[in-house]
Amino acid sequence: MERTFSIIKPDATRRNITGKVINCLEEGGLRVVAQKRIHMTEAQAQEFYAVHKERPFYNDLVSFMTSGPVVVQVLEGENAVVRNREIMGATNPSDADAGTIRKEFAESIEANSVHGSDSLENAEIEIGFFFKADEIVG
Ligand code: ADP
Ligand code: MG
Repeated sequence: MERTFSIIKPDATRRNITGKVINCLEEGGLRVVAQKRIHMTEAQAQEFYAVHKERPFYNDLVSFMTSGPVVVQVLEGENAVVRNREIMGATNPSDADAGTIRKEFAESIEANSVHGSDSLENAEIEIGFFFKADEIVG
């Protein structure tokens, strides 16, 4: 059993499709073990995406991620990190496989509906960024 960190991004909360996104994750074999709807501050988004701060899209990404509410969540399951990335699909929806969240729902390479941790190590860091241990209930 593994845990990973997931965000339903502002493009999805704006279109009221959080349930559809969560359904894909659940149908894909993952279980939501922690969840909250928040509006990220600019400082939170800057720190969360600090790894991308030299990238040309960083400022736009921070603006986008603070443009509306998001749903932050912890997902649990077998190979949860890799499984979540499979269910999400490629970063750019035009490269994403049919049936993935990003192919079905993403608006653009930036407004691509979901975030998912890219490694077990980052999953632990990202979970700790938004959740206390007693907020995670398996
Ligand atoms: P992923 O979310 O698939 O792990 P990255 O970690 O590379 O992708 O990028 C983080 C986020 O930054 C993406 O999900 C997307 O919202 C945004 N992003 C990535 N590449 C671009 C780009 N070329 N132009 C605009 N936004 C981008
Ligand atoms: Mg990433």
